[in-house]
Amino acid sequence: GKRPFHSPSPQSNKKQKLMNGSAHSYVQLQEERQQLPIYSARKKLLQQVQRLASAIVIGETGSGKTTQIPQFLYEAQMHRNHLIACTQPRRVAAMTVAERVAAEKGAEVGELVGYCVRFDDMTNENTRIKYMTDGMLLREAILDPILKRYSIVILDEAHERTVHTDVLFGVVKAAQKQRKNRGLMPLKIIVMSATMDVDHFSQYFGDAPVLYIQGRQFPVEVLYATEPQSDYLFAALVTVFQVHKDAPPNEDILVFLTGQEEIESAVKSIKDIAQDLSQDYPPLVVCPMYAALPAYHQLRVFQPTPKGSRKVIVSTNIAETSVTIHGIKHVIDTGMVKAKSYNAGSGLDLLRVQRVSQAQAWQRTGRAGREAPGSCYRLYTEPEFGKMNINAVPEIQRCNLASVVLQLLALGISDVLSFDFMDKPSKDSLEAALQQLEWLGAVAVADCSAQGKLKLTAVGKQMAAFPLDPKLAKILLVAREHNCLDEMLTIVALLSVESILHTPQNKRDEAVAARKKFVSPDGDHLTMLNIYRAYKSFNGSKQWCFENYVNGRNLKLAAEVRKQLHEISCRLQLPSNSCGRDTTPIRKCLTAGLFMNSAELQKEGKYATLITRKAVAIHPSSSLFMCKPACVVYTELVQTTKCYMRDVCVVDPDWLTEAAPKCFKKKKMST
Ligand code: ADP
Ligand code: MG
Repeated sequence: GKRPFHSPSPQSNKKQKLMNGSAHSYVQLQEERQQLPIYSARKKLLQQVQRLASAIVIGETGSGKTTQIPQFLYEAQMHRNHLIACTQPRRVAAMTVAERVAAEKGAEVGELVGYCVRFDDMTNENTRIKYMTDGMLLREAILDPILKRYSIVILDEAHERTVHTDVLFGVVKAAQKQRKNRGLMPLKIIVMSATMDVDHFSQYFGDAPVLYIQGRQFPVEVLYATEPQSDYLFAALVTVFQVHKDAPPNEDILVFLTGQEEIESAVKSIKDIAQDLSQDYPPLVVCPMYAALPAYHQLRVFQPTPKGSRKVIVSTNIAETSVTIHGIKHVIDTGMVKAKSYNAGSGLDLLRVQRVSQAQAWQRTGRAGREAPGSCYRLYTEPEFGKMNINAVPEIQRCNLASVVLQLLALGISDVLSFDFMDKPSKDSLEAALQQLEWLGAVAVADCSAQGKLKLTAVGKQMAAFPLDPKLAKILLVAREHNCLDEMLTIVALLSVESILHTPQNKRDEAVAARKKFVSPDGDHLTMLNIYRAYKSFNGSKQWCFENYVNGRNLKLAAEVRKQLHEISCRLQLPSNSCGRDTTPIRKCLTAGLFMNSAELQKEGKYATLITRKAVAIHPSSSLFMCKPACVVYTELVQTTKCYMRDVCVVDPDWLTEAAPKCFKKKKMST
């Protein structure tokens, strides 16, 4: 089969062996399947899907929705020799679930059961059950709006309401209608959710019936903090060891934190502290869990805990509903999550650690009662809980929509303002997105005034061909003019993976010293490029990565991503060339994509963003932290104690005006 995005990573073989080694026999797996709560609803579900166009399924996490329903449909031949898609908001979930289901089917993943996530397609012509990220199905819809290859689309984890899922709702609904109107094979839609508030979904899909799966949930004792915690990370560590001290071995702990760096540092601290404990305590197995973690490492989370020891899993909200982990008896909920927030009025787009909703808190709590009664330690007070939002605001109402609008336009939906969203984003944020796309040259000026009939420009179409944020896609496209595609592919690939730096907390100075030779006076993007070049010249040597405090895994992943971006750029016939050691072309390309993320030094020595006039600072991890360049562009804003610019590059203010004359001319006039 054709694999535009395949991964030759040697880890997949290892992964397979690991899975078979630890998995049970085929017979045992079949018995396990039949014991899942979903099994008893099988007949009813099949009848409903047979009879009606759409169905909604609700069931607690672990009841068997994701692993079983696609199999039921397949076994009942309802796929009609086409594909059954099951979409996931996260790539990890798509991959681990596909592994599990392949094992249940006694097959290798990538055959009957496969997965497809950004930069990694594990399907072939035999695949019938395809787990995929919602983003990937959306990209397929651009090439084929009626989704011909699919007979059934299952939109899983619908309660998460990610932007992609929300857009997919509209896209599959339109595809279903189109196919009906044209007398083609019907497209069946199944929406699956772990929470009860589904009236919304049902209404949206023509009053589709709702099937409730009776789950097994044991009581969970909820304990609140007695007073507000100023440092949730510290509070989490203290609580881990409190539980560790009191609870019998083999009662595993799941801790919810917010992101990779924080999780890695917590894992390290827990391991360090555990080393100093007396021998009387059970040994601790500490595992991180987050979306960017390579699959091989993620699998450790699912391995049974050795007898007499205790597993501590430190996870992002990924463990809230989308992956099932056995043996969890204690949940430690910091009540925090890293989420996007966007204000169309101010144009401010940032990633911020914030409070979860009450619904999320209950999902986290539920993880402790899957197999037996458990306990949940909430590191916030009961009144604080009371002040949380009941439900999370759908992401589409709190993120920059430039990427979504670009995709809608690429799908041929010209009237984005009246797209059939389940929950409409504000008109302001849709218009702001159009404005940004106009600045980036993805839609034409004249068209923008006559809204309703918008079309992508040639540049816009090329931007949509990349599975990237429009700003990053633009960076690649302008490389043509500056003769530096080689460098820009590397930089964009590096921006598409998690940090390539490895900075252990207790060896911060050593790490910084070791990497000093790579630091570019022009900023982080060029520093990263230097690291990548050195990494390549040492053939990706592990020893070299170790000595230089860089993250070899993420560098390797970046090399993979780069290869695939290169394939797309070849298809678009972008000329491959290099600017050598001259950094100006590179910084001009970065400016052409990131001009909206620009900031200038103020008189008092602080920075303000140029378009939104927000006070910002250079992130302490930046190679420019101690410098004060007059004008910079950055990759993203992260709000912690301050609003920080991450990945900063020194640019010439004139380049900004060159890159987006309209954007900056207008600004000058208004100030
Ligand atoms: P749901 O989608 O309703 O949350 P799943 O279909 O993901 O439920 O999981 C059903 C059951 O399948 C789990 O309770 C667990 O026993 C098993 N399971 C799922 N994924 C894995 C895995 N990666 N490894 C081992 N068992 C798994
Ligand atoms: Mg599921």
